[in-house]
Amino acid sequence: MSAGLDRPLKEILGARMASAVEKEIGASTAGELLDWLPRSYVALGERSSLTELPVDADVSFVAEIVAVSSRRLHTRKGSITEVVVTDGETELAFSLFGHHRAHSGLEVGALGLLSGKTSLYQGRITLKSPKFAALSSEEEAERLGAVPIYPATSGLTSHAIERAVALVLASLGMPDVFGDEGPERDLPGSGAREGSVADAGLPAVDGLGTAVEDPLPADVRERQGLVGLAEAYLRVHRPRVPEDAAPGRARLRWQEAFVLQTALAQRRHAASTRLAVPRPPVPGGLLERFDAALPFSLTPGQAAAGARIAEALAGSSPLNALLQGEVGSGKTVVALRAMLHVVDAGGQAVFLAPTEVLASQHAASIRSLLGPLSEEGTVFDAGDGGVRVVCVTGSMPTAARREALLQAASGSAGIVVGTHALLSEGVTFAELGLVVVDEQHRFGVKQRDALRQSAEHPPHMLVMTATPIPRSVAMSVFGDLEILTLEGLPSGRSPIATHVVPLAEHPAWEGRIWSRAREELDRGRQVFVVAPRIGGDDTDGTGSAGSPGRAGHTAGGRGSSGRGANADEAETGSTSVEETAAWLEAERVLGPHRVGMLHGAQHPEDKAEAMRAFASGEVGALVATTVVEVGVDVPNATLMIILDAERFGISQLHQLRGRVGRGQHGGTCLLVTRLEPGHPSRERLEAVAATTDGFALAEADVRLRREGDILGTAQSGTRRTLRLLSLGRDGAIIAAARDEAVRLVGEDPELSEAPGLARLISERLGEERAAFLDRG
Ligand code: ADP
Ligand code: MG
Repeated sequence: MSAGLDRPLKEILGARMASAVEKEIGASTAGELLDWLPRSYVALGERSSLTELPVDADVSFVAEIVAVSSRRLHTRKGSITEVVVTDGETELAFSLFGHHRAHSGLEVGALGLLSGKTSLYQGRITLKSPKFAALSSEEEAERLGAVPIYPATSGLTSHAIERAVALVLASLGMPDVFGDEGPERDLPGSGAREGSVADAGLPAVDGLGTAVEDPLPADVRERQGLVGLAEAYLRVHRPRVPEDAAPGRARLRWQEAFVLQTALAQRRHAASTRLAVPRPPVPGGLLERFDAALPFSLTPGQAAAGARIAEALAGSSPLNALLQGEVGSGKTVVALRAMLHVVDAGGQAVFLAPTEVLASQHAASIRSLLGPLSEEGTVFDAGDGGVRVVCVTGSMPTAARREALLQAASGSAGIVVGTHALLSEGVTFAELGLVVVDEQHRFGVKQRDALRQSAEHPPHMLVMTATPIPRSVAMSVFGDLEILTLEGLPSGRSPIATHVVPLAEHPAWEGRIWSRAREELDRGRQVFVVAPRIGGDDTDGTGSAGSPGRAGHTAGGRGSSGRGANADEAETGSTSVEETAAWLEAERVLGPHRVGMLHGAQHPEDKAEAMRAFASGEVGALVATTVVEVGVDVPNATLMIILDAERFGISQLHQLRGRVGRGQHGGTCLLVTRLEPGHPSRERLEAVAATTDGFALAEADVRLRREGDILGTAQSGTRRTLRLLSLGRDGAIIAAARDEAVRLVGEDPELSEAPGLARLISERLGEERAAFLDRG
């Protein structure tokens, strides 16, 4: 960014203040401090009425001090200062302890900005942990108009931040208050957008802060009706009235979206400049024979996605697509058809799964879908023969593994199935044409980029996700991919009935759950039982190797330490996988039916054996962690019992129930909870029970999870992050920013005409952003 915004705070604030700001909020340049935005404003013109203060709320208000008295404390060092303020009508008293420095300016008659949390003490409202910032005079209040309230830290008050910001704005040649200087003007653009200046009829300022270079191209700003960067900062930090801030905030929020979208557009552009080997369809090839033998016809969604994929495979611009659809929507068939297309044209396809269990399963289901077509044959003589499918896993015997890798390298294997690790292990392919990645969560942008760059001609890439992704998220996190969506389920599949089982109100239903399971087993069907934890200790089942849970998704599964495995819980059998399985077995709860166990802490061989025994029907009930969330396909399973269901996220529950009802028998999912009625998490469960529309749930999930800081570090409150963008709320902004980004990158891929933006991207999309995308 410009020298103005890059200027070290040290030079502007002095060493002491600058180091405090750096330590507390992580800002070391002018621009970084200006990105620390107020969380609210207090209008000074109108004094808040103390009569109407809510109890137990964070409040800020301006009042006049009518009494101050200090006395020493007997019990501990320091003193206590009792303060009484008034709004002219009502008085409010509170106490301040110690910290004399913070209380300078506490004098009778002084006007000050007070903030704190209200509470009721002996029938009167008082302030807990109050903060006081003196305003030198009524005039200052008038002049300032509105006081910004910054997210403060223990070492840096809102007022201190405000003063630092004032110095920074002055250093940039900006006026003290928005609207103070400069001629009024109309803002370019139609003003139709919400919160635009023209709309609000607010005064705007021209020629502001010439030291502030605007990273947004002027034409973009104009089309989108956005104020300039200097004006945005001024509006947000120094509004005359709180309403001044909105267009500034809108502009900064838009910029946040635009920076990310431009970066993604650049990735897409870079990917498209490397040419793939064109692979035209081969008449009479494997794909045609596969289609002819398919026992069902493709859904319209499958056909459309298939056509788009075929078109891309035949061309030289590499396919980079995200194939999303509900569990059971038929993605595997689409992916397999793409693989056959590539094999027909002399290429190889690799299919990557997140875990070994899933890799083995995929290999098995690919072979079974292919039937006779998976017989021996090589990729180079696919004409009459079939295609050789090999599976490579870390736990397979060395000799077999070496053999499989050899077949990949020689080209005698047309389809290679393995885990994501396969790529980093230096496996070579004779002629890699297509990479299919199942379950995107562990396969971030970085890996996708590495893959694209790995070969002279980049392979086509198809990423499959069974978690429906809201558009805003898809555009942000998977913005480097084209999105293909399979709507709906193949006909003939019966929907899954989901019920919440509230044990708090109906403890007796606990027994009914297990007799229901028993009935299902007696009818020859199978049952999944999912529990949030692995063992009696605090081992967290959701973090297990097979869990694809995104960070944040599994919030319910974490922090379960509050519920130890006491005897009662072991008795009722619902806290951990190990206890539940042991109890079901020991008490013969399910009669003669065998109970298996699957979780991430098991040895890979034990996992594989557990899956095999369940898939073959030897084991009737499988007690598992979220390891079964993705992919595990046992069409005979008809009942899913999720214990302590509130520990799982919405999307996770939806995924889990997708494991049943995959055959012709329909499915039932029981969400078992001990939460009291009215508990907020109960609503989440009800929401899952109420709809089977994964996209609706995904939208609800992203709203509930407030995944707002898509550019920032999620964990740290001290980093300078705008945190303005919300994936739940700002879909329209993200879409508009994406369109503008595509246009800009199409015209100027290197952003040579927008150096400020280019700098911002490399700056902001540095480490922390990469981390976020990887997490994707
Ligand atoms: P996903 O991978 O999206 O979860 P799958 O591809 O595994 O879904 O398909 C789920 C089941 O539906 C499989 O048994 C598959 O054979 C079957 N199936 C796929 N496409 C169709 C279709 N068009 N009509 C009927 N059944 C289908
Ligand atoms: Mg599948």
